[in-house]
Amino acid sequence: MLSYVEARNLIISSLNTLEAINLPISESLHHTLAEPVIAPFEMPLFDNSAVDGYGVLVNDLINADLNNPIELKLIGSLEAGTKNLDGQPRIKLGECVKILTGAPVPPGVEAVIMKEYSAFEKQTDIGLFFKSVSKGENIRKQGEELKRGDRVIPANTRINAPVVGMLASLGYANFKVIKQPQIAILTTGDELIEPGQNLARNQIFNSNSYAIEAACRSLGLSQLIKLHCIDTREDTIEKMTQAIEFADVIICTGGVSVGDRDLVKPVLEEDFKVETILWRIAIKPGKPVFFARKNEKYFFGLPGNPVSALVTFHLFVKPALMRLQGVAPCDPAQNRAILSKKIKKKAGRMEFVRGIQKRTKDDNLMVEPTRGQESHMLSGLAAADCLIHFDLEDEVLDENTQVEIQKLDWQNY
Ligand code: AMP
Ligand code: MG
Repeated sequence: MLSYVEARNLIISSLNTLEAINLPISESLHHTLAEPVIAPFEMPLFDNSAVDGYGVLVNDLINADLNNPIELKLIGSLEAGTKNLDGQPRIKLGECVKILTGAPVPPGVEAVIMKEYSAFEKQTDIGLFFKSVSKGENIRKQGEELKRGDRVIPANTRINAPVVGMLASLGYANFKVIKQPQIAILTTGDELIEPGQNLARNQIFNSNSYAIEAACRSLGLSQLIKLHCIDTREDTIEKMTQAIEFADVIICTGGVSVGDRDLVKPVLEEDFKVETILWRIAIKPGKPVFFARKNEKYFFGLPGNPVSALVTFHLFVKPALMRLQGVAPCDPAQNRAILSKKIKKKAGRMEFVRGIQKRTKDDNLMVEPTRGQESHMLSGLAAADCLIHFDLEDEVLDENTQVEIQKLDWQNY
């Protein structure tokens, strides 16, 4: 059986980045940049003021302080958006010009002194100034942030709020991004009914459909359909056909093990002629994971147990969805923590033990396994914020040993 790392690498390397499309920037959130963002002009484009204040000459205020206020004569005023600087007289010694935040700083002005260090009597144009200034003070210099042609953000960056802001501030109305994968979630099982219906004793609610949808939406992926099939070949074929019609990625849950009614794998292989990349991984939860490909469509068969479905989504589907959008795979185990209590397992499968991170009194990171570790016990996963890596051949992890933990952050990769 493949190990976790082998399976993960195999899945990631079987995927091709989806095509690039041009999108209005207000629709670009949660997409990936298909090309680097280049500054089409320098930033700032013109010298402008960082504060509300007065443009002055440095020499005028050399000795200014609270006990020695200096008088300057106001000769003009500039607001943000002021178009024409040509009509403005150039300040001379003994003069100042009012400049508001973001307004252009006219040639000749050496510094902007904050309004707070000045006092003007009402209706007069003579003001008192209480502080000296240095050359360039409170002036945002033309080109100080970016030169024309600078690479501001590299390709393959996920677009978040600051990136959208950056695109807008550089004047891009549209930008080239990688298309988001369209996803079909196909749940399987005769025993499942939808929340809101009356539950008979032999039934359970279909939670995977909602949980996997939420996991996709948490990553900003909302082009999805949800389908459910009962455990017959006909229905599996029919729903799979609909799934394939819509989606780039088909995420099935249940029906991938070795039971008589586990039809996902046989139907995909025999009726849809997919190329199986892997089936079964030496992990717990999630041993029966199935992954296949046909043309540019990708198929995940996740286990039916709700914890297994979500954990394997996190371990394998998430990096795949990111890879399809051109995001480089990142190292899944990011942290080490002290285990709060002894845990045991059999050798032969790597376990992902659901844990909660805590800070000890001396500020060390500690991790506590949650209650309810069985793969049908969603409560244990809902309480967890990380997965403790319990390696393939290990059988015991003692209290107070250092363990590797992988954050369970559903919003981020
Ligand atoms: P299976 O892999 O189809 O044998 O399913 C394994 C276990 O997961 C069974 O107890 C199923 O009832 C349960 N299960 C399968 N699909 C779902 C689902 N969509 N929501 C909740 N539980 C499920
Ligand atoms: Mg089933």
